[in-house]
Amino acid sequence: MTTTEKTGTATPAPDIEATHFDVVVVGAGAGGMFAAARLAHKGYRTLVVEALDKIGGRASTDEIDGFKVNNGAIVIEVGGITEETFAEVEAPFDIRMPSPPILYSIKGKTVDVTGGGWGFLLSKLTRQGAKLVSGLGAARNDSGLPEDEMSTAEWVSKYTTNEGVHGIFRNMCASVFAVSSTELPAKVFLTYFTRKSAFKKFGFHPGGTIGVWQALAAAVERDGGEIWMSSPVRAITTENGAVTGIRVHHDGRDIDVTSPVVISDVGPAATVDLVGSEALPEAYVDEVRTADRPCSMIAVNFASRERLVDVPGMLSFASSRRLAYIAAFTETCPEMAPAGWNLYVGGAIPEPSVGDFDSDAEVALVLEDLREKIHGFDDRATILSIAVTRDEWPPQRAVSGFDLSNTTPIEGLWNVGDAVKEYANGGTTACAETAKIVVDAVAASYPVPAAR
Ligand SMILES: Cc1cc2nc3c(=O)[nH]c(=O)nc-3n(C[C@H](O)[C@H](O)[C@H](O)COP(=O)(O)OP(=O)(O)OC[C@H]3O[C@@H](n4cnc5c(N)ncnc54)[C@H](O)[C@@H]3O)c2cc1C
Repeated sequence: MTTTEKTGTATPAPDIEATHFDVVVVGAGAGGMFAAARLAHKGYRTLVVEALDKIGGRASTDEIDGFKVNNGAIVIEVGGITEETFAEVEAPFDIRMPSPPILYSIKGKTVDVTGGGWGFLLSKLTRQGAKLVSGLGAARNDSGLPEDEMSTAEWVSKYTTNEGVHGIFRNMCASVFAVSSTELPAKVFLTYFTRKSAFKKFGFHPGGTIGVWQALAAAVERDGGEIWMSSPVRAITTENGAVTGIRVHHDGRDIDVTSPVVISDVGPAATVDLVGSEALPEAYVDEVRTADRPCSMIAVNFASRERLVDVPGMLSFASSRRLAYIAAFTETCPEMAPAGWNLYVGGAIPEPSVGDFDSDAEVALVLEDLREKIHGFDDRATILSIAVTRDEWPPQRAVSGFDLSNTTPIEGLWNVGDAVKEYANGGTTACAETAKIVVDAVAASYPVPAAR
């Protein structure tokens, strides 16, 4: 194939309808919606195309028996790049923060460490706490960061063998990065907690997490953008090493949308498939395929008439088989359940969290934890769903610290989302960060076209 041939499409068909946008965003997940809202607000005529019939991707919400059950992300960071994006695009940021946001179950007691920080938390577990805190302090200087190969669990072991401390670190890694402390580089953990906003403040959306993206979708449309749902992209088209647009199935027919800029939120591996590997350098395709190591998570969504967990927001554990946290949504967001009901989720990562695992055995361990943590769980709780998120629908497309670049070898084509995170970031916050970086790069090279 010569470089001038079109790639990523079936043979160009003259009967295919065509239209043009300034920018196209493929996928209405967190990364896609943050990018689209920023672009539309800057004045680009923006099109978002989404294969599913609802927005939010892995941070969306399903209705189950009148409950708003999140299919992925449950908490949204407050005070960081996410809230900043909402302010910049003038969208309502309706996040309710529990106070305190998180409590810890330590030696059978529920402990509030608000204000006391790491020192207070660790002092509840071990007399070695001070040493660990000094290790954390040292990590504030680059010279105090461990080498890349050391895992978070190995780093903790330098200071203590205390199982509770290891449990807390394991469950923190699970909650923020969707991997175990044995799988997360210590450098990532320490960079995150010493240099980043680190999810210190967070909350829930009363409409379920989908509400976050609905607010951004309204902003995109207010600013002249369009969002096409149930519209799978068949191909990202390129010519002479530059992107030319997409072919999308919309309203029962294929449409060619031309655009000099395409931002893909489907992850680099799926982006490569949409472009066609023959249009990309072999080394890049290999790099993407090698880096495609998604993690996994297990969520048990349950409800009850009685209040089962006495916390305003989240409860994490110093000791558990797999369970990293329980979130109590209805304490701050009663709208998420029918009147008189409480809604919870138990979140866990399997072992291993990267690679294959026995789903049934891992779910059984999470349920054992829930039975142990919640008295009479089987009789008092109604399980609404058990979701094992993995492979194509992972909690993180890349383990933090092993992300790919948001740029591609194709001019005008970028990736956003949780496979192209900045170093030591995670979840929807990282998606907001990738969107800002990519939109700034778009604005630097593709000025908003003059008034039409
Ligand atoms: C169980 C679980 C718990 C989590 N908890 C949290 C949390 O509490 N807080 C937090 O911040 N993060 C959390 N996360 C992580 C967070 O959900 C993800 O990091 C984030 O949602 C990823 O968004 P994304 O934009 O990268 O990708 P996605 O959400 O995967 O979005 C990609 C979109 O592209 C669409 N798409 C794919 N192919 C095509 C195509 N060919 N054409 C058109 N559209 C296409 C998909 O349908 C999807 O909507 C959790 C994740 C899981 C699974």
